Amino acid sequence: MPKYKLVCFDVDGILIDNLKFSWQVFHDYFQTDRHRREDSKKKFLSGEITYLQWADHDINLWKEKNAKKGDFFRAISHLKLMEGAIETLNELKRKGLKLAVISGSLNIILEKFIPNYNEFFDDVFISRIYFDEDGCISRVEATEFDMDAKALALKKIAEREKLSLKECVFVGDYLNDLKIIQEAGLGIAFNCEHDELKKAADVVIGKKDLREILKFIL
Ligand SMILES: [Mg+2]
Repeated sequence: MPKYKLVCFDVDGILIDNLKFSWQVFHDYFQTDRHRREDSKKKFLSGEITYLQWADHDINLWKEKNAKKGDFFRAISHLKLMEGAIETLNELKRKGLKLAVISGSLNIILEKFIPNYNEFFDDVFISRIYFDEDGCISRVEATEFDMDAKALALKKIAEREKLSLKECVFVGDYLNDLKIIQEAGLGIAFNCEHDELKKAADVVIGKKDLREILKFIL
């Protein structure tokens, strides 16, 4: 039986290549107002507004631009799946591990690049945008589990599955993954440019092929 029972993945920069922040990609595509964007980010970072208020604010900027479903998919056409991603998910599944996504990214990204993602992942913590028949944004469910709260999502799954955090793995690349990488039994910094995260991780992988994580987990 493998030592680890649950593997959780970040999305931007981990399952998906050429990508740091999916939200930024959409802001760039829809050419939203940089000042309003930075203002809301500042307010979030200073604690003036919550993460959900920040997300709502930024999604409203897209709504103002009359962003349609097709536009969202066009905006991410230059991205690609991380090398070895599907093989890695298949192999972990085959070995009987539970898989999850814990990400501040958007459902649109997973839908485009891993349309059958529900077959791989037992839990998907991510922000979701829904569209009506005309392709307009009809509903938004921003995740409560980004930044330090990613660790709470990990604890939620572990508790339900009766696992200790020692049996859990997290794979991430950015500073919002710091807390969860510290909490997971095996924290893997993958495709990561941040020394603080690399230092906190148990394993650092520079080669951009997700299969590289397998030897540390299985
Ligand atoms: Mg990331």
